[in-house]
Amino acid sequence: GAPLDPRYTFGNFIVGKPNELAHAAARRVAEGGPVGFNPLFLYGGVGLGKTHLMHAIAHDYQTRHPMAQVLYLSAEQFMYRFVQALRESTIMDFKGMFRNVNMLMVDDVQFIAGKDSTQEEFFHTFNALVDQGKQIVISADRAPAEIKGLEERIKSRLSCGLIVDLHPTTYELRLGILQSKTEGFRAQQPDLEIGTGVLEFLANRITTNVRVLEGALQRLFAHASLLRREITLEVAQECLADILRTNDRKISIDDIQRKVAEHYNIRLADMVGPKRARNVARPRQIAMYLAKQLTSRSLPEIGRRFGGRDHTTIMHGIRKIEELVTEDHALAEDVALLKRLLEA
Ligand code: ADP
Ligand code: MG
Repeated sequence: GAPLDPRYTFGNFIVGKPNELAHAAARRVAEGGPVGFNPLFLYGGVGLGKTHLMHAIAHDYQTRHPMAQVLYLSAEQFMYRFVQALRESTIMDFKGMFRNVNMLMVDDVQFIAGKDSTQEEFFHTFNALVDQGKQIVISADRAPAEIKGLEERIKSRLSCGLIVDLHPTTYELRLGILQSKTEGFRAQQPDLEIGTGVLEFLANRITTNVRVLEGALQRLFAHASLLRREITLEVAQECLADILRTNDRKISIDDIQRKVAEHYNIRLADMVGPKRARNVARPRQIAMYLAKQLTSRSLPEIGRRFGGRDHTTIMHGIRKIEELVTEDHALAEDVALLKRLLEA
């Protein structure tokens, strides 16, 4: 499989409200034994710790069961190897390798959506392992039902174990992660001073994802160490100006229309066009609703951006979605997902 990062352990994983369930499930699966979470399906936005948790499971399980075979790889690597095996006529070896593991972990499974022969092979591998009582751990950027282009039978298979999501980070979790990473840096460079309020400032201002947060802290320490300066608020603002700026990036109506069109598989032009068919009109109304929620544009402005529609049309669209999210669970999930993707 792919190499495991030795730093991605349970010990280095900070637990907070947004990830406590995913963490608990990961711990349980790592213990081995008949837990019944098969597969464990972890999902969430970029940089929220899916890969970290998967590696942590692998490390911990391997420590408890030194003779067990753990195979961790990304869905992309799965496809690559499958294609290679087909080309080199080593498909039996390929199948054998997967059928012999005790735990199979496939990261970012959304990658195989739309790739038919790879999905087919994945489905057989999955079934063979589950039938033998082997543990499977899968991650994706969204829930199985939300992965477009994934076969129904795979979605239903992926949903038979435990599905847990990593929620967007909270201020408390971000601060906790920063404090823990800072301890790590300070252990290596004890003479570096970090001013009060700096970590709080970063936790407040860098909300996109944990990877960016970590990168910012790392850069800050490198910068301060080179210049032999204390890390003050001013140093942080200056040194991280670019990151702070992108994090402030406003969501545009363009972004919203693009994402919604992509999600519902309609043309971007239909967002602003006149079609009234439900399969086009509904996504358009969702985009209007998100434009109102996620931008500071007025209704007339939103109307202009939706092909010059009147503000009452926009209002009607928004009301319709407000109403639907309370009664149509699937639609509410769609809207929540789109919001999450746009805010990521
Ligand atoms: P994902 O796979 O969900 O995109 P990763 O697992 O690659 O995210 O996490 C991105 C970075 O953030 C990694 O360096 C990881 O160690 C770190 N990270 C994410 N969540 C946490 C956490 N709760 N505690 C400590 N580090 C975290
Ligand atoms: Mg990942």
